[in-house]
Amino acid sequence: MAVAHKGAISFGLVHIPVNLYVAAERTGITFNQLHKECMGRIRYKKSCPTCNLDEVSKDDVVKGYEYEKNKYIVI
Ligand SMILES: [Zn+2]
Repeated sequence: MAVAHKGAISFGLVHIPVNLYVAAERTGITFNQLHKECMGRIRYKKSCPTCNLDEVSKDDVVKGYEYEKNKYIVI
């Protein structure tokens, strides 16, 4: 996947501006915390039900935007 560092990230049919993160903070769009190994949703306890991990290390948590049900773009 070719990634343009300025402008936009192309992800399949979805075209998301790089400044989405900033825009989201203004508009109140929320991001999900995801386990970077499997893209499982992180709960408040930072556990991952997909991997059956009780606690996911902070380093393994990424921020994702859900552009479609259960499909995420990592920010
Ligand atoms: Zn996981």
